[in-house]
Formats: sequence, structure tokens, C-alpha cells
Amino acid sequence: MGRYLGPKCKLCRREGTKLFLKGSRCYSKKCSLERKNYPPGQKSKRYRSKQSDYAIHLREKQKTKRTYGLLEKQFKNFFKKAEDLPGVTGENLLRLLETRLDNIIFRMGYAPSRNAARHLVNHGHILVDGKKVDIPSYVVSEGQTVEIDKKSRQIPIIQEAMESHKSLDQFSWLQVNPANFKGVIKSMPTEEQLPQDVDVRLIVEFYSK
Ligand code: SF4
Repeated sequence: MGRYLGPKCKLCRREGTKLFLKGSRCYSKKCSLERKNYPPGQKSKRYRSKQSDYAIHLREKQKTKRTYGLLEKQFKNFFKKAEDLPGVTGENLLRLLETRLDNIIFRMGYAPSRNAARHLVNHGHILVDGKKVDIPSYVVSEGQTVEIDKKSRQIPIIQEAMESHKSLDQFSWLQVNPANFKGVIKSMPTEEQLPQDVDVRLIVEFYSK
């Protein structure tokens, strides 16, 4: 499956918010958005003009798609899956995105970014219920165990991510056991446990137009 290979910081500048695409750099003073909080190709922040209704909807969709590191086709496929599930489409969409295997690895603190997590999955370093899964878009279910393969546990990027990982308080639907390089999906995230900075209503409206 394809992925975006261009400059990541430009995506944050385009969306005007931190998408946390570059691991530890995103939490440091080196973050490009801290220095240049205006869209790429423009000379100053005063150019962030008033947005049309369409642009507001588009930007929310783009921000979310880019946060999870997906291309349009992949994101739209997730949206279609969300529509087919019972319940509220927007909430379903976010829950599907949150329970992707690459996102779970990132949330559990075994990778510094979703992109790095995706790389680990692609290269066969991740086990789900004891079996290798190398599909980053694999959606993990309640009760499943995610684990770093024994022979991959010394990979520097995993070690560094674990050392700098912050508390999981806000992701209480996950249980992580760093001593065993494992984690369990205790329950599917409830609406309150899903990221609150995404206006899913705008995304649903964008695709309904
Ligand atoms: Fe975005 Fe991270 Fe780059 Fe900052 S350092 S602009 S948060 S990708």
C-alpha cells in the first residue's frame, strides 16, 4: 500500500496544527510549526485567510487523514467500512482508525510515530495473538494481544520510543506491559476515549456532499 513520502512538517503547516509525524522532534523546539506557523509557500502567518465552508470540511478530513498517515483511497475505504457498521459513522471511523495495528503500536509507546510503527509492522516485527501480522491497516479487536517479536526487541527505535513514552492515562482502553513488550486491547475505545480534537461531523458531511 502506498504512503506519503513528501516533507512531513509541511503537512502540519498546511493544517495549522501539530500532527506529530516525526517522533521526538515534534515535542522539541525543532518543530517546524513552532517557528513557521503559516501554510507552506506563503511568506507569513497573516496569509492564513478566512476559510470557506468547503475548505473547513476539507481541512478537517485532510488533517485526520494525514494524522493517521493515510492516502485518500485508504482513508475513503475506512470511511466506507465505518458507514457499513452499526452506530454513528463518525465515531465508527475514529474507532477504526484508532484500532489500526500501526496506531496501536504507536499508542502503546513502541514506536515514536505512526510512520515508524507502520515500518515495524511492515517488516514483520509485530505479533498479534502470537502470530506475525505485517499489515499496518489490520484492525485489532477487543481482547487481542499485540507484542514485539522477541528477536526485534533490541531495535534502537523501539528502545528509544519506550524510554521517552509518556503515560497512557488517556488511552485507558489499552493495557501495556513494557517489561514483556506486550499490550492488550482491554476494550474498544468509547466515544469519550476517542481523540477529542477531531470534528468527525465535518468529515461525514464532506463525504456526504
Ligand atoms: Fe509536525 Fe512534528 Fe514537523 Fe512539528 S516536527 S511540524 S509536529 S511533523
